[in-house]
Amino acid sequence: MPPATQSAMKGTGIGQGIAVGPVARMSPPPAAPADATSTLNQEQESARVNEAVQAVSADLTARGEAAGGQAQEVLEAQVMMAQDPSVTEAVDAKLAAGKTAEYAVHTAFAEVAEQLQALGGYLGERAADLHDVAARVVAALRGEPAPGVPDPGHPYVLVAQDLAPADTALLDLNQVLALVTIEGGPTSHTAILARGKGIIAVVGVKEAAELTDGDEVIVDAAHSAVTLAPSQEQKDEAAARIEQRRAAQAAPITEGALADGTPVPLLANLGSPENAAEAVELGAEGVGLFRTEFLFLSSDTAPSVAEQREAYVKLLQAFPGKKVVVRALDAGADKPLPFLNDAEEENPALGLRGLRALLASEEILRDQLSALAEAHEATEADLWVMAPMVSTVEEAEIFSRFAHQHGLKTAGVMVEVPSSALVAEQILQISDFASIGTNDLTQYTMAADRLLGSVAGLQDPWHPAVLKLVKEVGAAGAATGKPVGVCGEAAADPLLAVVLVGLGVHTLSMAPAALADVRAELLHHTKEQAEAIAAAALSAPDAAGALEAARTTAAAHSAE
Ligand code: PEP
Ligand code: MG
Repeated sequence: MPPATQSAMKGTGIGQGIAVGPVARMSPPPAAPADATSTLNQEQESARVNEAVQAVSADLTARGEAAGGQAQEVLEAQVMMAQDPSVTEAVDAKLAAGKTAEYAVHTAFAEVAEQLQALGGYLGERAADLHDVAARVVAALRGEPAPGVPDPGHPYVLVAQDLAPADTALLDLNQVLALVTIEGGPTSHTAILARGKGIIAVVGVKEAAELTDGDEVIVDAAHSAVTLAPSQEQKDEAAARIEQRRAAQAAPITEGALADGTPVPLLANLGSPENAAEAVELGAEGVGLFRTEFLFLSSDTAPSVAEQREAYVKLLQAFPGKKVVVRALDAGADKPLPFLNDAEEENPALGLRGLRALLASEEILRDQLSALAEAHEATEADLWVMAPMVSTVEEAEIFSRFAHQHGLKTAGVMVEVPSSALVAEQILQISDFASIGTNDLTQYTMAADRLLGSVAGLQDPWHPAVLKLVKEVGAAGAATGKPVGVCGEAAADPLLAVVLVGLGVHTLSMAPAALADVRAELLHHTKEQAEAIAAAALSAPDAAGALEAARTTAAAHSAE
């Protein structure tokens, strides 16, 4: 008898994909070994440790070889740590004291990790890697499955409490059909990385805690749903949608436009020049957001003009003749830069972050603008610069003045704070353009921390309150004749992208993996229809209602 069909579990979908497959859960870390005296002699325990370390090293090496690139480097570094003489010495000392292999590994690795942490900086960050290796060796000693991302030997749907960005970056896309997390919000870095890699994901699914290995599920990111034990009919429908999406992804790359030919340039969000080639390949018509702070997250000191110039030249060279919007360092909150944010703050999202921090360290901002101006001189791209977290007209004016002083002609602001959306017309009289950061705009409008799973339900850019602010900025763009873009995650949601255009947004910028879905959706609606869909969403009482109203209105258009 087929299993009973359950109703869908709800979370927040990332991307538009749909996948069907068996669940494999992240294995939890092994329980901490007790401080016990071994019944074996030191030589026997030492042989057990060696064997376990060799097995873990072989496993990590094999995974690295299969993944290649950056993932391989990370995993090889872990292998070196497992075999580091200082670690071996610390383990031997515990074994000499008569401890069990499990306890010796657990405590010795922890001690070395603590020493690394005390050193801070890059080495400090490796402490977490050492804990991970220790957990793997202890699991191997006990004959338990390795903790972390499972390897069931067939494609699977990964279910995790939450996933560290490092784990997300290492996921093998040939094996992981989709990702479901019990915690996590739609704009956490894990979600942003998942979108970047094109992983089908639904995050913040509380009921997913009940899923067990081997359960068959449909993960439907477009509808933010996970269905356990789907019926044959549901599986057939999913298969049809998977096929439809494959066709959309394979469609020829054209410039972004609505059904009536209204151009909607589709741009890329990038955090490193290394991803530029992939963005061009996927049809990005330029860059709408280059997050410069991502280049310097592990630097303790401010980057030099020369160092920055080199990175910006690399980026701009990938887009000759194309628009490239570079954002000044957005430091603070979840992206602190030690050289810009040194104060302890109770509420860092409301603190000295973004442009506020740059104005408090003016020379860092001026160095960045100099480096950008030099890179612009040396390349053919059309460079636009913008300031993060602008809250007042005065801040917009200062940033424009500084940029122009450094010879940068096009200077704009990010609208991420409700105050700047509400005075967008005055801001646009001074600035050359506005780019709406819907991630922070939603966080500040809804007063819901974008990193907190417990309030993820409020972190929804479909909320009419957020859409009203977008409309304000769109109207300000029309009144001043200045361009308005969106570069938050909202631009990557195809139907919401249509709504944004209907609200007066001219360009959309997103993770390159989302370009094909958005391009395909825009082609289904005229400007007039996009405006009608936006109006329907605006008049709903809440986010779910806005999505529903947009869907109903769009469906009525296609039935016409
Ligand atoms: C935003 O807030 O929408 C945005 C694009 O900036 P970030 O996600 O880097 O804060
Ligand atoms: Mg932001």
